[in-house]
Amino acid sequence: MKRLSALALCLCALPMLAQAPAKADKKPEKPHFEFGIPDKPFTSDVAKLIQEIGDHSQAFANLQQMTDTIGPRLTGSQKLRDAQKWAMDKLTSYGAVNVHEEAYDFGKPWFRGAASARLLNGNNQQLEIAQWAWTNGTKGPIKGQVALLEAKTLAEFKAALPSLDGKIVLAVSRPRPTAEERKDMGAWYKSYLELAKQAKYAALLTSSEKDNGFLTMSGSPNPRWSGSTAPMAVISKEHANLLKRLIKEDGQHPEIELNLGGHIGETPVKAYNVVAEIKGSTWPDQVVIVGGHQDSWDLATGATDNGTGTVVAMETLRAIKALGVAPKRTIRVILFSGEEEGLLGSNAYAEAHKADMAKIQAVLVDDMGTGAIQGWPDMGQEQWRGYLAQAMAPMNNLGVTDIGAFIQPGDTDHWPFYELGVPAFAAIQDPVDYMTMTHHSQVDSLEHVNKETLIQGAQAMASAAWVFANMDARVPHIAPATKKGPF
Ligand SMILES: [Zn+2]
Repeated sequence: MKRLSALALCLCALPMLAQAPAKADKKPEKPHFEFGIPDKPFTSDVAKLIQEIGDHSQAFANLQQMTDTIGPRLTGSQKLRDAQKWAMDKLTSYGAVNVHEEAYDFGKPWFRGAASARLLNGNNQQLEIAQWAWTNGTKGPIKGQVALLEAKTLAEFKAALPSLDGKIVLAVSRPRPTAEERKDMGAWYKSYLELAKQAKYAALLTSSEKDNGFLTMSGSPNPRWSGSTAPMAVISKEHANLLKRLIKEDGQHPEIELNLGGHIGETPVKAYNVVAEIKGSTWPDQVVIVGGHQDSWDLATGATDNGTGTVVAMETLRAIKALGVAPKRTIRVILFSGEEEGLLGSNAYAEAHKADMAKIQAVLVDDMGTGAIQGWPDMGQEQWRGYLAQAMAPMNNLGVTDIGAFIQPGDTDHWPFYELGVPAFAAIQDPVDYMTMTHHSQVDSLEHVNKETLIQGAQAMASAAWVFANMDARVPHIAPATKKGPF
């Protein structure tokens, strides 16, 4: 009996299916699948859900509207507020209930301005840069000699500082903690930031780690992250290498003109998480959270980070409502903000709802670009693998087969929940060109989104949410983390 037809039986067989892995021990042949079209018409609700998304997905259309029409969604910006209003209207139109936004203290907003840099001597070329977010601008163009910062330890960093006063500093390498220092990262980080605050650079340049001129943006209003107060920008790897060669190989003293027009706002603002629900029919107070951050960086339109995760969460709710069947547990869509600045929105949400954490059956987050969902990591918990296998079973023949045996670190919004002992997972996705091209870069735009894998992602998310919302068993929680991680 082919695995698929076993699946077509009906979902109530899931627990039995969970035991099915025994059969699955035999390495399953590489599943043949065409995105969006399951091999056989399924009868069960989850099969209809997968079919509904395959046939009528609005994910790409929503993504096009949110990115090309509304645009980059920096937390603290009016653009993100517009996108949040748009999302709430959409979710309401899909039939969601309890659609609202929850405010939290964010900090001072940041406003990007014009930015440029060029070599004043040598070959006089323009340099590819973008101002680092939440840093001060140069208040008009400044000129200065470029100096390299090559410090691998805190001691080397301290020794190098005096020679960098008044220079436009290109950070070639950053101090790293020794094995001994790793034992107390908090202390190490504190010393690093104190040293960085003593720096008297004219400006600081950090090289992108991407090739082909692609930049990687970052920054945060969170004082925990801010070291040097000098104007700062990211420079393309190619142009950073040029400056390094001129200094180290050609013995030249490059001078550049740098103009950074961005600025930090005066008054701290609130930021918001968007929430919308489908109430559960049997256990309405138990909740499955489907999330993704709606905020993005602002060098492009944040299509793959995290427009894709946002519309996958919205499509999950649309399709379940279109199905017209209520899940047994409540399914709650949360579009977080402040993720790029340090999980600020999800941390605020988890903190505000700490008392209700026990009611959460599972948290599912999509935040890894346009690639197909391949599975979910067990977060180091053997006991969660069986539940994940059940949640993935409906999509086994559509590429969702991987239960990762690892803890997905605190790089997205599942983390604050996981730290409180909640079964919280961020999808494993085909990396495609996420880290090498679109992630936080100036080309994170719609044409780099694959329509088919976006549909597959929504099918994987919706079916997993549905299975968690309808299974009889409660997924066991673990003990909350004793020491909060860096995020
Ligand atoms: Zn992201």
